[in-house]
Amino acid sequence: MKKYIFAIFGLFLTINLNAQAPEAKEDSLKIREIYSAALVHGQAYDWLDHLSNKIGGRLSGSLNAQKAVEYTKAQLEELGLNKVWLQPVMVPKWTRGGREHAYIQTGPGMTTEVNITALGGSVATTTGGLKANVIEVQGIEDLENYKDEIKGKIVFYNRPMNPELIQTFSAYGGCVDQRYSGAEAAAKYGAAGVIVRSLSHKIDENPHTGSMSYGDLPDSKRIPAAAISTKDAEYLSGMLKLKKDLEFYYKLSSENHGEVQSYNVIGEITGSEFPEEIMVVGGHLDSWDLGDGSHDDGAGVVQSMEVLRLFKETGYKPKRTIRVVLFMNEENGLRGGNKYAEVAENKNEHHIFALESDAGGFTPRGFSFEADDAQFAQIESWKPLFEPYLIHYFGRGGSGADIGPLKKGDIVLAGLRPDSQRYFDHHHAATDTFEHVNKRELELGAATMTSLIYLVDKYGMKRINLEKDQKL
Ligand SMILES: [Zn+2]
Repeated sequence: MKKYIFAIFGLFLTINLNAQAPEAKEDSLKIREIYSAALVHGQAYDWLDHLSNKIGGRLSGSLNAQKAVEYTKAQLEELGLNKVWLQPVMVPKWTRGGREHAYIQTGPGMTTEVNITALGGSVATTTGGLKANVIEVQGIEDLENYKDEIKGKIVFYNRPMNPELIQTFSAYGGCVDQRYSGAEAAAKYGAAGVIVRSLSHKIDENPHTGSMSYGDLPDSKRIPAAAISTKDAEYLSGMLKLKKDLEFYYKLSSENHGEVQSYNVIGEITGSEFPEEIMVVGGHLDSWDLGDGSHDDGAGVVQSMEVLRLFKETGYKPKRTIRVVLFMNEENGLRGGNKYAEVAENKNEHHIFALESDAGGFTPRGFSFEADDAQFAQIESWKPLFEPYLIHYFGRGGSGADIGPLKKGDIVLAGLRPDSQRYFDHHHAATDTFEHVNKRELELGAATMTSLIYLVDKYGMKRINLEKDQKL
């Protein structure tokens, strides 16, 4: 009897699988083919080698940024896409100048050197540097508690990233206001300068730069801003407990040069059935200048290029138009992302989907999506296809800074979500270098992105917002 039941159950199972089989089987075979192509003869790692080691850090407006534009354009042209072009965009140009120098002085002739780096956009100190007493605070909102003491001093923002948060980007988000707006806020209380604890969980000697803004402060009120390494931040905080009136010295030689011409680099495979439905896959071509920008965001650039190459290699002809967009100036202006969205709007283009990789080249875990309920349900139905590749995370949340300006109507935005535990060890620091990117992890990310784009292309996205509009 038992045997009989098993036999019947087995029969149902077979029938059931066969009933769903053709589409699901075709998809799982295609995805297997994509992963194999990426892992066996992927191109992403070689492209990253060139970007990182032959070109290096690619700050907006620099010669290296221009070299990266020319290199990636030439590489896209070799892929045999339907179109490759440069989209002009004006970007801010800021230079670091000579190496920064800083020390803590606890008495006459008693100094300890510490590691700092100018924040992107900061003004320089005077040529002799700035020396002043220090007020340690735990964030912008803490300034009010010291309002009578700040004038003429250096404000030291020392709130660390919260180690309890599993999503390290959330810990970063909880502190980044110190770096971005700390100088503007402290200047309003009469501070002479600001020093900001580097945004990293790791306690080491590498300062991490990043963008900052003075808001609408006039030039005369702008104060120099630098990041201090986490190790030196701990040291400075400890010394302040022993000697409140110690002095801190630093010298920055940075300079703002206004705006210069640069470009987004774009390549396209035109859709065979619905060419007017556009999908974007991208990362940002610019990087900070301390390392070579391998994780942030060389990885995202080469993974995005790889998506189109993998379609070519596996002979997949997209029904919809797929564009790789290598955005310029994510780090200190977002001009590339804004320009792409502006041109798309002016041309009345219809973007249905955009995917950004800008969270490092580490092992992919999944994606986060900005989508409505019906769209997200459609995407979640594809989750089993990713199981064999250990891709488990399909969440809702932010996607990517560069594609953010495209948000309009029924577009779905997505961000690749790699493991984020080591990302902030390297982010914006001198250790964001090629040897810290693992070839297989990078390739798995590219294959994961390609598989998602393949599914969206094949099935399209639900246009729930438009349907609602039509009903109204
Ligand atoms: Zn980035």
